[in-house]
Amino acid sequence: MSTTQGHQFINGAYRVGSGTPVERINPATGQVDVVMDIASIADLEDAISAAAAAFKSWSRLTPAERSDHLLAFAAELKTRAAELADLETAQTGKSTRMSHEFDVPGTIDNVNFFAGAARHLQGQAAGDYAGNSTSMIRREPIGVIGSIAPWNYPLQMAAWKILPAIAAGNTIVLKPSEMTPGTSLVFAEAATAAGIPAGVINVVVGAGRQIGEALVRHPKIAMTSFTGSTPVGRKIMEMASETGKRVHLELGGKAPLVVFKDADVEAAAHGAVAGSTINGGQDCTAATRAYVHSSLFETFTARVAELMDAMVVGDPTNEDTDMGSLISFAHRGKVSEMVERAKEAGATVRAGGVVPDLPGAFYRPTLITGATQDSEIVQDEVFGPVLVALPFETDDEAIEMANDTPFGLAASAWTNNVNLAMRAAAEIQAGCVWVNEHIPIVSEMPHGGYKDSGFGKDMSSYSFEEYTNVKHVLISHDTDAHKGWQSTVFKK
Ligand code: NAD
Repeated sequence: MSTTQGHQFINGAYRVGSGTPVERINPATGQVDVVMDIASIADLEDAISAAAAAFKSWSRLTPAERSDHLLAFAAELKTRAAELADLETAQTGKSTRMSHEFDVPGTIDNVNFFAGAARHLQGQAAGDYAGNSTSMIRREPIGVIGSIAPWNYPLQMAAWKILPAIAAGNTIVLKPSEMTPGTSLVFAEAATAAGIPAGVINVVVGAGRQIGEALVRHPKIAMTSFTGSTPVGRKIMEMASETGKRVHLELGGKAPLVVFKDADVEAAAHGAVAGSTINGGQDCTAATRAYVHSSLFETFTARVAELMDAMVVGDPTNEDTDMGSLISFAHRGKVSEMVERAKEAGATVRAGGVVPDLPGAFYRPTLITGATQDSEIVQDEVFGPVLVALPFETDDEAIEMANDTPFGLAASAWTNNVNLAMRAAAEIQAGCVWVNEHIPIVSEMPHGGYKDSGFGKDMSSYSFEEYTNVKHVLISHDTDAHKGWQSTVFKK
């Protein structure tokens, strides 16, 4: 991120925001890496006006024209892959392997996916439903979308918000997390360099309480699409109701990982470690609660502890690092305090639970046993590399405990019994249930929650439903037949 070109991307150009600048800290080094300008309300107004102006022509392009733009965008992103990955690591502290092998390729694949999906945007059916007439369905873009994103996967979150919206013919103003705006800005600028018209994608950087709230409340914003915490999501719903706009909420998670009696315990232990430490555990679908059949409990927990203890935590720019830093010192403090409170409440730390002697906001992968189902560490989102394991006796008990939090974003079931796998898939209340896996997500897979994890889908063709209006059009075949007004309303 250059400090001179500015940290707002409005109407196809970088701009220095006229709000009060803030220092951004690299969480892996603890050093200030950039003094970042912040958008004022006037900058936000300009972004919304630019998006509204661009909507007129962007929404009228043919699907093939929008698809061509997205294909050119994907090609441009490929030339910037290394730049984007390095910037993603610098702003989040996540491992360079994660940025290079997951975040950037996943984002480019998402652009390609929505380039294809743009050409399949159509109404379901045409039919003669009312006699002497034909009905047809139009799917239309909604208008200017206001999107708000979190800091955990800044680039992918920007992509998940921007791509289905613009592929469907909308234009957008995105507010990334003020902690991690860098890759969202480069993403928007790359779109413009690839030929996507000015104003289609705008990025404003500012605090949630100021720029975020103004974006949600703005009457020219037709829909708010939000990814972040459940408490903020609730507030967004309230604010959006002032103007009656559509909302799409991707909120917190507390994913269970259920290891049934017949499971491959070695595979489940590896899945649990990968699933709980991905992105430093700062992943809304991360494995957080392992429910393990009592006959496997000791084998499973011993193996998870061993694998966690072997993980390399440290400098995220080192290729051998398994897990980089957490997002900030404040967040590391929150994670560490939750673990300490679990210990005070009687739980045992079987791995990790310590702050390594390193300059950044690092925390060791942590396994906890001996916590109770109703305890804070089992019920509340930690959003760090912390897995709690609890034993169970019966399948009924396992499914009941898996469902016993307010969240419902993702879950996994580990078993070789197809009946049990199907039962778990049906009865676990979550937007995604993996069987003998925990974490894979690619563009075709719909992602979204049940219960307090929100509603609406990101990714996949389902996300078009979120970003379009359905319009019914009826065309009369026989105007004479409708000249007596009663014939249009009453059946003879
Ligand atoms: P957060 O809710 O604090 O912030 C998310 C975004 O909302 C940020 O851009 C922030 O500036 C903005 N914001 C904050 N207060 C606001 C307000 N009053 N009005 C408008 N905008 C406001 O979340 P976070 O700490 O950035 O991210 C972590 C959370 O995100 C976790 O709860 C995690 O589970 C969730 N998350 C969910 C998904 C999903 O797909 N369901 C994906 C990633 C993260």
